[in-house]
Amino acid sequence: MRSSNSSSITPADSGATETFAELLARVQACTVCAAQLPHPPRPILRASPTARLLIVGQAPGRRVHETGIPWNDPSGDLLRQWLGMTREQFYDVARIAIVPTGLCYPGTVKGSDLPPRPECAPLWHPPLRAAMPGIRLTLLIGAYAQAYHLGKRRGRTLADTVHAWRDFAPDFFPLPHPSPRNRQWFKRHPWFEQELLPALRERVGAVLATGDNGNLNNQA
Ligand code: SF4
Repeated sequence: MRSSNSSSITPADSGATETFAELLARVQACTVCAAQLPHPPRPILRASPTARLLIVGQAPGRRVHETGIPWNDPSGDLLRQWLGMTREQFYDVARIAIVPTGLCYPGTVKGSDLPPRPECAPLWHPPLRAAMPGIRLTLLIGAYAQAYHLGKRRGRTLADTVHAWRDFAPDFFPLPHPSPRNRQWFKRHPWFEQELLPALRERVGAVLATGDNGNLNNQA
């Protein structure tokens, strides 16, 4: 888990002041669904109180679980390609937070990853999101992230939800999972690469270039 500093926040449930580092320490120590996990809990996320872009995916896969680095796999390579980012830019925790729907590797069944643990997002997303007030855009990658954050606003299918990306601006941007196994999906939906990806890059670029006062950093 990574954090850039320890500014103070106030947890909504206790009324006590808790630093960002203390919140991350609580996340790191979580064992709520340990009995359902194939390995001891290892929450994998990157967060800081200065982050402006939040990336919400599904849950760590085996390789990510082993390395402790989110999106450190071929799906991450494709996601960075979509965003037009280098690894260095993508892993700049001061600007980009990465918090999956389920923070720990849930295991596999018949070679497929299990869904994120249902306890996780309701437990940790609200306090983490509250502790990152600078977030201007949240990328919702895959059906689980969209289900949790969009609820009844999402479409009948993942394609319906993603195709309606303009409806979720300015707070959210729904995306399919960038698994290389989904290449046929990308081909069947040509608007994805032709229309959505250019819009995504433009929106992310604008969010990351914007300062705390809402002005572009390169403007006086
Ligand atoms: S998946 Fe989430 S709720 Fe379960 S142990 Fe990990 S951090 Fe806690």
